[in-house]
Amino acid sequence: MPKVSFNNSDHVFYTSLKTSVNKYFTYTKKRRTGDIRLYAKSVILILAAISLYTLLLFVPMSPLPRIISSLFLGFVLACIGFNVMHDANHGSYSSRKWVNKILGLTLNALGGNNFIWKQKHNIVHHTYTNIDGIDDDIAKSPYIRMCSSQPWVPAHRLQHLYTPLLYSFSSIIWVLFQDFDKYFKKKIVNTPLSRMSTADHMIFWISKILYLLFYIAIPIALTGWQSWLLFFLCMNIGLGFTLSIVFQLAHVVEETEFDSATGDEKKIENEWAIHQIKTTANFSPDSPIISWFAGGLNYQIEHHLFPRISHIHYPALSRIVQKECAAFNLPYNSLPTFKAAVISHFRFIRTLGGKPGTIL
Ligand SMILES: [Zn+2]
Repeated sequence: MPKVSFNNSDHVFYTSLKTSVNKYFTYTKKRRTGDIRLYAKSVILILAAISLYTLLLFVPMSPLPRIISSLFLGFVLACIGFNVMHDANHGSYSSRKWVNKILGLTLNALGGNNFIWKQKHNIVHHTYTNIDGIDDDIAKSPYIRMCSSQPWVPAHRLQHLYTPLLYSFSSIIWVLFQDFDKYFKKKIVNTPLSRMSTADHMIFWISKILYLLFYIAIPIALTGWQSWLLFFLCMNIGLGFTLSIVFQLAHVVEETEFDSATGDEKKIENEWAIHQIKTTANFSPDSPIISWFAGGLNYQIEHHLFPRISHIHYPALSRIVQKECAAFNLPYNSLPTFKAAVISHFRFIRTLGGKPGTIL
């Protein structure tokens, strides 16, 4: 793995920002972790997922309601990922460690593995955001070219058309292939995976067996394989597409910057926090509905700067971050609506799909 270092000689920007954020929490006397708004949301989402799953298994349905319910279940599972799992695995859901630990396992209930994800996301992605060669979130080459340093192949000309399809099947690929690939290769792109304890290995295998049981074996036994196939495909389309699009809109849009780490050593010209500002974008900050469902992931700038603060505080923190960015003459990438962010993402992907050196 190339050794990447940031220009952290003075941390001027981050020091100033942290001071302002600390003042906010001191003044408002709020805890940095979640509160009743987050707990209520967690209960609603988890109950919705259990109800939809039970409905799909025990209530006979014709294909159309089955398709709609399965898509909706996938969407709800993605929302559990954004709201409950993401905060818990960052340690920001609750001040009690055991609560974060248990709720972090909701990722395993979705099919993933929280040990691998914590390293892929909390360490690799959050530190080396948009650095090609390290950040797993943009390592989709040769299937998708997500930044100009990645090699181009002629099929990329069509990538803006086929990426929605890949996003739709991303959760199946992730749960049934990528997790095993990382587990057996013991690395995330070029970063070695930390040593797993016996308990970690057991949780990995037990979770994967339970996934096969609850998402494949039991539904086939209760509904038959045709109904299961419809359920499994549609649920994953809802889950995979929702997860992919929300994470992609945060970093892979026209407004964000990329870097690459090839060779042995790479020095990033900015301090870490400025790198986060330049490689991250918010979207639809004024929509309470999107903020509720996306678990504050539409405030990715605030999340990347303060991942250990619960997402329910991000709308308030965004005002502080914007002020600090303006004072330090830094960009604050915020797309006004979800639609604007989607357009920016696919326009960016289409541009990258063009043969390098040709003007579209
Ligand atoms: Zn995160």
